[in-house]
Amino acid sequence: MGIRLGCIADDFTGATDLANNLVRAGMRVVQLIGVPDDGDERARREARDADAVVVALKSRTVPAADAVEASLKSLAWLRAMGAEQIYFKYCSTFDSTPAGNIGPVTEALMDALGTDFTVATPAFPDNGRTVFKGHLFVGDVLLGESGMRHHPLTPMTDSNLVSVLGAQTKRPVGLIDHTAVARGAEAVRDRVAGLREQGTGIAIVDAVSNDDLVTLGEAVRDLPLVTAGSGLAIGLPANWGFEPSPAAARLPPAGGYGAVVSGSVSAATNGQVREFLDTGRPAYRVDPLRVAAGEDVAGEALAFAGAHLADGPVLVYSTEDPDAVRDVQGRLGAAEAGELVERTLARVARGLVERGVRRLVVAGGETSGAVVQALGLTGLRIGPQIDPGVPWCAAVLPDEATRPGADTRPGAGARPGEDDRSGGDTLHITLKSGNFGGPGFFSDAFTLLETS
Ligand code: ADP
Repeated sequence: MGIRLGCIADDFTGATDLANNLVRAGMRVVQLIGVPDDGDERARREARDADAVVVALKSRTVPAADAVEASLKSLAWLRAMGAEQIYFKYCSTFDSTPAGNIGPVTEALMDALGTDFTVATPAFPDNGRTVFKGHLFVGDVLLGESGMRHHPLTPMTDSNLVSVLGAQTKRPVGLIDHTAVARGAEAVRDRVAGLREQGTGIAIVDAVSNDDLVTLGEAVRDLPLVTAGSGLAIGLPANWGFEPSPAAARLPPAGGYGAVVSGSVSAATNGQVREFLDTGRPAYRVDPLRVAAGEDVAGEALAFAGAHLADGPVLVYSTEDPDAVRDVQGRLGAAEAGELVERTLARVARGLVERGVRRLVVAGGETSGAVVQALGLTGLRIGPQIDPGVPWCAAVLPDEATRPGADTRPGAGARPGEDDRSGGDTLHITLKSGNFGGPGFFSDAFTLLETS
């Protein structure tokens, strides 16, 4: 049996957000990192026993033509896997420019699917995103009056989504307003039929509560394509008979050593690192200035970790308070410092896995991207949530990531006998961006794996 729902997300953390919502509504979900190749047997294997697959793209702010190309490739792959419905996921603040990419990607997907109608709603009431009379509210204020007004890449100054999307599409954009949604799925379907008759191609849909999203989910069950933030995910799985169940989040058993790699410099992560240090667990601090001076900091970190892994989770971190970070950035340049640290922590993560770490917590959005790439991960099975929006995931490691000595630099790679708990190609990993997670996140994460 193929997958039910095929999702295309325009950025990585948005993809995880969607995947997490689908799991909580009862689907088994795999998130793929980037467009899988036709011949990518690993991606196919990872997706095979999932109910939904989310392809995570980086297409939010690239040129529209590139976003369209990546989205169409993803669509072709998802359809080949049997996807019965396609979900295009964008940000709950509808991040886009007059050139796109929400409009152009939506229309390209409609063309490819041969459908003349779809819906669009970024509403996610649990996160304070509601749509009323076609206007998007962020918390208590209109989108155009929120902080999004000043976003560096996608400033949003118009709150009326019918006009925002209309400026990006050739097809006429209409509205299914709250009077229809409040009357239930049948009323929404009637409104869809009416709009279709008038030649409307895409309808913004009002939703101010989770009930509205459930109504909408039921109403759109026969549409080949839906487009939304991650909120609509709570209303779709029921169309295939899925119900919330812990089984959807079940991962293979966890093994190996535990470690935390933290390159986030946000306030929440600073608190989490402090809390972990207070427990007295072994920790190694990566000093960016020593990395810049050419010292083998990754090798030192791995030697330190290697000596302590058998006793429990080890932390390797570059996390510092804002003053210290500014100081380093002043000396090295912000971009250079960031890249140096990311590269070092990615090497550490790879070395840790070579030494038998199979439970890995990564803190930092950019840091996560660098680690995922260094480990050659292509897919993540989404598991139980540690804190809101941050699930444990299971990934299949490629052969080369587990082979000791793949990295031949001094201090890298495990020596014989040093990695006696390695082996096994399943890595449990959680990717926590910036300000997510409570103060005890690192310890909580390992506890959850032991008890689930
Ligand atoms: P967050 O999700 O908290 O924003 P990211 O990993 O996305 O975390 O971004 C943090 C950035 O700061 C990364 O580029 C990282 O390499 C860099 N960084 C981490 N530690 C330091 C440090 N001590 N000094 C300077 N830059 C750092």
